[in-house]
Parts: sequence; C-alpha cells; structure tokens
Amino acid sequence: MTRWFNARRRKSSNWRGSLPPEVAKVMKEHMEEVKGSHVNQISSWTFEVVGKFGDRNTVLLSEKRCSCKKFDRLQITCGHAMLAADTVGVLPSTLVGLWNKPGA
Ligand SMILES: [Zn+2]
Repeated sequence: MTRWFNARRRKSSNWRGSLPPEVAKVMKEHMEEVKGSHVNQISSWTFEVVGKFGDRNTVLLSEKRCSCKKFDRLQITCGHAMLAADTVGVLPSTLVGLWNKPGA
C-alpha cells in the first residue's frame, strides 16, 4: 500500500508540482475543456485562446487572470491559462493562486 502510494506520488510530481490531488483533478478537467483550442500570443504575458467552437478568452498570465473568470472564482488555473503557460514554458502548477502564496 505504501509502495503504491509512493509510486503514484512520483508519477504525478511532474507538471502538477506539489498540488493537492483534488486541485490537480480540477486542472485536468479544465485541460479537457480546452482541447483543440488555439493560442495566440499577444504580448509576453498576454494570450488569446480561441476554442474549437470559436469562443475567445484573454489570459493575463502575469496577473493570473483570464476572461473566463475561473481564476477569480476557483483560484485554480483554467484551461486557457494552462495552454498559455505551456506556450511560454511556465509550469501550470505555479499559477494556482491558493497554493502559490509566498512562504506556502
Ligand atoms: Zn480561462
């Protein structure tokens, strides 16, 4: 049992960083929602994400904001921001508000 847990931890410690499983689960769901989207980089930290149904969202990566408001509401990275972060090589786990406070 312990060994199984350790193996799972190792496996999930890549892009999710040290996120609690429930947060990582929500982020995975968000990622599913934006599958097939296209990312346009507007400036270094600003992105426009166009979904496969033509819906557009603006991501302000440096401010941890997105026009879909999931960031504000859940403090968990939305799919748009994850796509944007991926574009510039930022780990999505570092964007999660609640879990990324200084000293935490
Ligand atoms: Zn969003």
